[in-house]
Amino acid sequence: MSPRDATSGAIVNALTIDVEDYFQVSAFAPHIPRASWDSLPCRVERNIDHILLLLADANMRATFFTLGWIAERYPEMIRRIVDGGHELASHGYEHYRATEQGYGQFLADIRLAKAVLEDTSGGRVNGYRAPSFSVGPRNKWAFEAIAEAGYRYSSSVYPIRHDHYGAPDAPRFAHEAFKGLLELPITTVRLLRSNWPAGGGGYFRLLPYGVSRWSIRRVNAIDRQPALFYFHPWELDPDQPRVKGPGAKARFRHYLNLERMQPRVRRLLTDFSWDRVDNVFLAGRG
Ligand SMILES: [Zn+2]
Repeated sequence: MSPRDATSGAIVNALTIDVEDYFQVSAFAPHIPRASWDSLPCRVERNIDHILLLLADANMRATFFTLGWIAERYPEMIRRIVDGGHELASHGYEHYRATEQGYGQFLADIRLAKAVLEDTSGGRVNGYRAPSFSVGPRNKWAFEAIAEAGYRYSSSVYPIRHDHYGAPDAPRFAHEAFKGLLELPITTVRLLRSNWPAGGGGYFRLLPYGVSRWSIRRVNAIDRQPALFYFHPWELDPDQPRVKGPGAKARFRHYLNLERMQPRVRRLLTDFSWDRVDNVFLAGRG
């Protein structure tokens, strides 16, 4: 039974933020070597503070899937996330896709990220999200590594068709992906025998807001499941420095409708009840 909003009785959904900077996104990776990250103007701290304010205004909590690289450089920001009552989770150490690593490398990266995040926050980190949803039925070994690293849940699969990620045949809802490890896929809506994105990403900025609202309502009403939604801090930052080099498609996807994001997130926070992933999905699991 999913948690319900105490006043409205509506299903409580899970809100997640992938804490990384604009120069760390996978689509830009070929144009920005990791060695140059330290020399680039950072925007993540001001953007996270902005998101923390939006959440505080709405009196809601969320889960922040954070890179170890970011936590090492912004320990005060990590404190503010935790002090706000939010859940700190892991997005790996330095944003390598699972698909570009072997078992040992992948395990080392997600172990390091967990250790850094736990040291910085002083609390236990239960959740992990793979960069670019790079885990799915084709590399199930990754679930074993995530469990071995000590995580209790993963939110690494987006069960849609997409040119860079996605696993259209993967289960759409919470399930045990490996012994003791729950996979919590990003929300999709089932229509015309296909899964359509309903849990964030470029689609949320591309399509009218009403499409997302309709989709989340449908998942809550027809599937009777909580939605799991995600966005990035750089999506609320229309003034971020423009990266030179990526092709037209990558630039279109990254920069489209950034100025619409803040009002849309506010509407999401008004139209639905949201909480941290652990409160929505792990409550009652011991
Ligand atoms: Zn990411």
